Amino acid sequence: MPRFPITGRRQLRLVSNQELYTLSFQAYNQFLQQNQVVNNSAQAATVKQVGSRLQAAIETYMRQKGLSEQLSGYRWEFNVVENQQVNAFCMPGGKVVVYTGILPVTQSETGLAVVMGHEIAHAIAEHGNERTSQGLLANGLLQAGSIVVDSNPSLARQIALQAAGVGTQLGMLAYGRKQESEADEIGLIMMAMAGYNPEESINFWQRMAAQNKGQEPPEFLSTHPSNQTRINDLKRLIPKTMQYYKGGKGGGSAAGAAGSRGK
Ligand SMILES: [Zn+2]
Repeated sequence: MPRFPITGRRQLRLVSNQELYTLSFQAYNQFLQQNQVVNNSAQAATVKQVGSRLQAAIETYMRQKGLSEQLSGYRWEFNVVENQQVNAFCMPGGKVVVYTGILPVTQSETGLAVVMGHEIAHAIAEHGNERTSQGLLANGLLQAGSIVVDSNPSLARQIALQAAGVGTQLGMLAYGRKQESEADEIGLIMMAMAGYNPEESINFWQRMAAQNKGQEPPEFLSTHPSNQTRINDLKRLIPKTMQYYKGGKGGGSAAGAAGSRGK
C-alpha cells in the first residue's frame, strides 16, 4: 500500500496548504478565464461524471484510513478546455483540467479515469507542493513562510500552474520517476474504487506511447514519460489494485485492503 499522502520522503514545505490552495484557486480561475472552457457538451459532462466518481472514491478511501482531514481544504472542480495539447492536470486543492487534445487518446470514460486518477493522485500525494515552494522562493515571492503575492501576483499564479504541469517555460522540472510511479499506483486504486477497470490503463498508456511517434512529443508526454518500463510497472501493480475493483461503476471500497493496512 502506498502511504499517501505521506510519501515518506522529506519534502521542502515552506508554505501552509491553506496558502497554497488560495494561490492555486486564483491561478485556476485565471486559467479558466484565459482559456476556452467547454460547457454543455457530452465530453464536458463525461469529465464531470468521471471526476465526481473519483472524488467519491478518494473521499471514501481517505475516510477509511482516517485521513479525511487531508482533504478538508479541497474544493473539487472538473473542467474541459479547448486546447489541442495532449494534457491534463490537477492543482493542489482538487482543481482539475482536461484538454480536448487528450480526449482522442482517452477514448472512453475509463480512459479518462486513468488520466484524471493519475493527475489527482499527484495532487493528493502533494507532489507539486515542493515545486511550488521552490519556485516561489527562487522568485522572491516567499517571505517568512508566507506567499507575497502582492509583489507579482501573475508570476505567483504562473508558478502554481507550472508546478501542476501547465507549460514548461520556467524550466520547472518534471515529476520524478518515484512520483510518477506513486501517482500511477494511487491512480489505479482510485479508478478501481470508482468502478473503472484498472487493466484498461495499459491500453491507455500504449495509445499515449503511439502518440509519441511524431517529431515533437506532446506536452503530457514530456512530463509523463510513457515507455515500456512504465507499462511493465503497471502490469506489476494491477493485480494489487484489482482487489479494489468490484466491477460496475460506483462500487468498490478500501475495505478489501484492510488486511494489508500498515503504518
Ligand atoms: Zn504524472
